[in-house]
Amino acid sequence: MSIEVKQVSKYYGSQAALDQVSFSIKSGEIVGFLGPNGAGKSTMMKIITCYLQKSEGEVKVCGLDVDNDSLEIRKKVGYLPEHNPLYLEMYIKEYLSFVANIYKLKNVKQRVAEMIKLVGLEKEQHKKIGALSKGYRQRVGLAQAMIHNPEVLILDEPTTGLDPNQLDEIRQLILNIGKTKTVMLSTHIMQEVEAICDRVIIIKDGKIVADDSTKHIQQQQKDLLTIFVEFDTVVSKSQLVKITEVVSVKNLEDNKWLISSEKDIRAHVAKFAQQNEVLILTIRIEEQSMEQVFKKLTSKK
Ligand code: ADP
Ligand code: MG
Repeated sequence: MSIEVKQVSKYYGSQAALDQVSFSIKSGEIVGFLGPNGAGKSTMMKIITCYLQKSEGEVKVCGLDVDNDSLEIRKKVGYLPEHNPLYLEMYIKEYLSFVANIYKLKNVKQRVAEMIKLVGLEKEQHKKIGALSKGYRQRVGLAQAMIHNPEVLILDEPTTGLDPNQLDEIRQLILNIGKTKTVMLSTHIMQEVEAICDRVIIIKDGKIVADDSTKHIQQQQKDLLTIFVEFDTVVSKSQLVKITEVVSVKNLEDNKWLISSEKDIRAHVAKFAQQNEVLILTIRIEEQSMEQVFKKLTSKK
């Protein structure tokens, strides 16, 4: 196991930011830590990275205990904190060399060059951090998190504030990094989990509300299956509801419909089209988005 968290609580005064949280992450996994603002994501990550002490429970990282082996753990863990604090007056190379020296790395110059290449900062490498766009600053943050070649990467909202292009690039970078490392990343963006993570742990008000594979969580939450279909011509609602095993139908626009059923009835829809001499232009199962799942799991009951 890369990360083992057992019944961890953290109190800020009387408020329980984390309440009996337990989960574990195997080595090589990319796990999304999903939850609304204030759920306790950053608090949990600070405890795992030894930047904050828990109030109760047990946390092990790479088999080491956060209470006894914090220095050893820091060598094995790379951490991108939530607001990615960087020294804006420093040059990229200067900053990365500074971090490399903290870890007492040998061949600092070579390692800095490797990291600049890995995160795609070659063109910007002679600039001051303050002159970089948000996306490039995130790359500097990822480079500092990985410079000591840690086994585990903890990334706290790594894509918040990025524009859509930067978002794609940083996600791709994380996916690449994830091939060789254990990654835990927090986010409140559902699509992010769908795009990057094998597994998702959902937290709300300091409690874990779900912990499962991304696929399984989507499936579990599926009450009904929705099929999107576009016909080449007008079809009436009264005709469509007669299709075998249809539960309900909804017209989107013109000849586009959503058909709900308890199972995949695309074959029945095809048969209907054939019998009524209409053509199907598009037909597909609509995946339930993580956004819907998340809303269900975290909405106030
Ligand atoms: P998230 O990262 O999921 O947004 P946080 O872990 O930052 O959540 O915060 C969880 C809860 O703990 C919030 O209610 C927040 O206000 C509170 N909290 C976080 N840090 C502190 C602190 N240093 N002092 C007091 N309360 C805090
Ligand atoms: Mg946070």
